Amino acid sequence: MDFYLSEEQELIRTTMREFAQEYVAPIAQEIDESSSWPADLYARLGEKGWMGMPFPEEYGGSGTDYVSYAGAIEELAQACAATAFNVSVHTGVACMCINNFGSDEQKKKYLTPLAQGKIGAFAITEPSAGTDVGGALTNAVLDGEEYVINGSKTFCTNGPVADTYVVFAWTNKEKGEMSCFIIPRGTPGMQIGKKVEKMGMRSSQTSDLYFKDCRIPKDNLVGKEGQGLKIAMNGFDHGRVGIAAQAVGIAQAALDEAIAYSKQRVQFNKPIAKQQQIQFWIADMVTDIQAGRLLTLQAAWLKDQGKPFSKEAAMAKLYASELAVRVTNKAVQIHGGYGYCKGVKVERLYRDAKITEIYEGTSEAMRMVIGGSTMR
Ligand SMILES: Cc1cc2nc3c(=O)[nH]c(=O)nc-3n(C[C@H](O)[C@H](O)[C@H](O)COP(=O)(O)OP(=O)(O)OC[C@H]3O[C@@H](n4cnc5c(N)ncnc54)[C@H](O)[C@@H]3O)c2cc1C
Repeated sequence: MDFYLSEEQELIRTTMREFAQEYVAPIAQEIDESSSWPADLYARLGEKGWMGMPFPEEYGGSGTDYVSYAGAIEELAQACAATAFNVSVHTGVACMCINNFGSDEQKKKYLTPLAQGKIGAFAITEPSAGTDVGGALTNAVLDGEEYVINGSKTFCTNGPVADTYVVFAWTNKEKGEMSCFIIPRGTPGMQIGKKVEKMGMRSSQTSDLYFKDCRIPKDNLVGKEGQGLKIAMNGFDHGRVGIAAQAVGIAQAALDEAIAYSKQRVQFNKPIAKQQQIQFWIADMVTDIQAGRLLTLQAAWLKDQGKPFSKEAAMAKLYASELAVRVTNKAVQIHGGYGYCKGVKVERLYRDAKITEIYEGTSEAMRMVIGGSTMR
């Protein structure tokens, strides 16, 4: 058993660290405060191959393995969690559905530009269908050579800025058959709702999507009719590894801030880092982070080996997201009152961490996946 990254995996991680520290970290606070989308940063991420990491080179990707992908997302999250989240949703769920189930034509037409920097979104959640995706109402009816889509989606990450949307709709609700469709931005009948203002991940753009007699060619069906739930669940398995990596990155950034602050903050005539209580907290934080990182890498490694990794992805996402909340909470505590103030990095990290317990399946949903799989 070998716990070391290969030279190539290490190089990808280091290259992303340098990129993220040069281009992402310096703007992270500002784009959080203004809740804005730095289009030029995403263009640069695309140019450098970071928007299509795990996809084949023939479809515009970089052909990296998933362990490298997870390492890169962790590094990106240390610089800016929201940027890492946007890249992860784009890659791990939206593009992954097309990569894993799309036709060659669809990969050439949609995956290639997405892997090179166009933005992808994934839309399954509806006002009546969160954890219970079966509560969805959106449907797609075949009419000649086109599907006609009616309904709405909510909480769509990248919704306001995406070029291509991977959307799920019932094609036969009575039989429980959902299908997956590619809908390009600007398709008549599709409307993008206004941006949702959030507690954290503020530079991630989130919106509703509305479909009113939205006609898309039959060719935009991904996989086979009725395969939608399978495609979505496969997307979530991949996406959850990205969320876990992101949560570990948030926690690592909070730990680094807490250590630096505790070394320079003097109380009772010595740095608070010298207090055993602070050292114990740091010990718990670093141990928690390492456990989450190993779970994440294990899930990514299983995917790279072509083995089942659904349960391990859920375990990684559950553990890493909850540790991110614990660690950022302690990092704020170590900063005392200053940690509660706007403009201090741990304040942002604390807000960003919370959502990792909710999106791409809540912690309770992860326990359902893990429990169900364990008790089978
Ligand atoms: C910022 C953000 C970005 C998002 N991005 C996307 C996206 O890009 N695409 C997309 O499709 N969706 C997206 N989502 C939606 C997200 O995946 C859902 O919010 C999440 O799955 C939970 O659904 P819900 O909010 O409807 O909560 P609900 O399902 O209503 O859950 C509410 C609470 O009840 C609990 N609960 C529900 N059922 C059970 C049960 N059976 N047993 C125990 N507890 C239960 C939940 O765990 C939770 O604590 C995003 C959400 C947010 C906030």
